[in-house]
Amino acid sequence: MKGIGWVYIREALEKAETCFLCHLENRFEQRYVDNYLDELVMDAGAREKIIESRGFCNYHFYKMLASSTNPASSDGLGMALILKSVTKQLFEDVTADLRIGVESPPTIELDLRGRFRQSSAPSYLRTVSNQENCPACDHVSEIMRIYIKEFVQELKEDNEIKELFNKSRGLCIPHYVMTLHIVSRLHSKKFPHTAKTIIDKQLQVLEELQNNLSVYIERQDCRFSDKERAGTEKAVGESLAKVVGRRGTDRTLARIIGAREDRFP
Ligand SMILES: [Zn+2]
Ligand SMILES: [Zn+2]
Repeated sequence: MKGIGWVYIREALEKAETCFLCHLENRFEQRYVDNYLDELVMDAGAREKIIESRGFCNYHFYKMLASSTNPASSDGLGMALILKSVTKQLFEDVTADLRIGVESPPTIELDLRGRFRQSSAPSYLRTVSNQENCPACDHVSEIMRIYIKEFVQELKEDNEIKELFNKSRGLCIPHYVMTLHIVSRLHSKKFPHTAKTIIDKQLQVLEELQNNLSVYIERQDCRFSDKERAGTEKAVGESLAKVVGRRGTDRTLARIIGAREDRFP
């Protein structure tokens, strides 16, 4: 029997109009945002974590705000509660800056035993901890790591998934890199068929983008009527979505390729 991961992957492969991992990532991110505003905002553990990280990163805080101001919801209160806890902590941080003063950036020093030691980061950087420790970024990248790993396994063992992938719109470049990175961790020694399937598909995607862009550029010529241009206007947006991926996926990419704990057993 196939698990929920397989069901989600299969559905995304069938439905996504662009990269299916962007489609999944959007879905998980939206679910996290909604769930955070509905429930986690009242959870003591989550409150502690959000104070520790001084809120969400710039991208996710605006995402939260957009969701909370949706006329269908009344989550403005949730946002106010998060911001109140965070600003209380920031007030303490800034008060500490006044006491400690402005420290110099970290330097490499030789300690008394002759060992090299890096001095700690200046304390005023704590106020922007959310750049490194955003709970939403952590959640989304963690769940994507699990799903990409599952996809890579399915691609190897499940012909239906392989077929759906070959028929799909393929991956954006950031998700292509995350997927290959995970393949390399799972099968570090040899060049497996899975990697070849992914690379072949990516070449096909890029070739298609090139063709669509060529048609678009050619049709900009004044010899072509509006009618002849119709249908080509999506080429620019679609190509961009394939080159950079969904908005915010750069944060997932940085975590997945930078993380040390992704050496699978
Ligand atoms: Zn993508
Ligand atoms: Zn974030």
